Amino acid sequence: MKAASENAPRVVNPRFKYEVAARPGGQQIKVCFGCGICTAGCPVAEIDAAYNPRRIIRLVLLGLEEEVLTADLIWLCTTCFTCYARCPQDVKFTDVMGVLRDLAVEKGYVHPSFPARLRALDDTVQRARRDGARALARAKAEAGEPDAGLLRRILAAAGEDS
Ligand code: SF4
Ligand code: SF4
Repeated sequence: MKAASENAPRVVNPRFKYEVAARPGGQQIKVCFGCGICTAGCPVAEIDAAYNPRRIIRLVLLGLEEEVLTADLIWLCTTCFTCYARCPQDVKFTDVMGVLRDLAVEKGYVHPSFPARLRALDDTVQRARRDGARALARAKAEAGEPDAGLLRRILAAAGEDS
């Protein structure tokens, strides 16, 4: 990844917010009023104080393109949609993050193969989570626990009860 030097003067692109807003998913970014509800509910922000959706939006609105698009932080979002559901301004930050990732690739801040590698990692984590749920359902069934049937039905509905 290209990295912005900490000592370099901040380059401002006043068109950056318009570029983001022109993309599907980014249209609402300009109506953010900085309430911070997105950050308060974000599971990534909970474990990494440097990750702050409200601040990322602010940087975009200020035109600090390079600072945003070179930041490792834009790749940490787990797309859980909590911020998306809670935002009073319907900013849809999860989608905004997708736009920022696309721009980071298109403008050459990350290698084009990086998003695919990240998706492969996500798939691996998701598979591990499903395997864990299956193992838990089996253990509960063997122990005769009352909610084992429910867990099995949920896994079956998701096509995962094998
Ligand atoms: S919750 Fe919505 S309005 Fe509030 S800071 Fe986050 S994106 Fe902006
Ligand atoms: S979608 Fe991303 S930014 Fe929003 S709450 Fe989840 S992890 Fe945080």
